[in-house]
Amino acid sequence: MQPIFENYQKNAGAVLCCPRCGFNYLHHTRIEVFERSEDDEKGTHVIVDNDKILVDKNLENNPSMRRDGLKIFFWCEGCSPDDGSLDDIVMTIAQHKGKTLVNIEETSKRCDDGSADT
Ligand SMILES: [Zn+2]
Repeated sequence: MQPIFENYQKNAGAVLCCPRCGFNYLHHTRIEVFERSEDDEKGTHVIVDNDKILVDKNLENNPSMRRDGLKIFFWCEGCSPDDGSLDDIVMTIAQHKGKTLVNIEETSKRCDDGSADT
């Protein structure tokens, strides 16, 4: 989906809006970093979530097919479950050749092993 932002304000940035309902109260929860050299099958995967850090070599869910990628998970005050238990929106940033692609999607609930179905 097309990321939607409110107006940019110098030195503050622009507020990201929910891709589902348009509300501007998105809370980011989990962050995943995928790092590798171009086309390498192995690299570094770091998950920061819930006061924990996990590091492994699993690049399976890297949003970039060839290079580095980021995933930022959110829950929305407007349309996610009231208790904030489901961070079902994910923004991805993917390096592809010389370009950086930014996307935002709905995702199913994370699996118990920490991976996410996007
Ligand atoms: Zn929403």
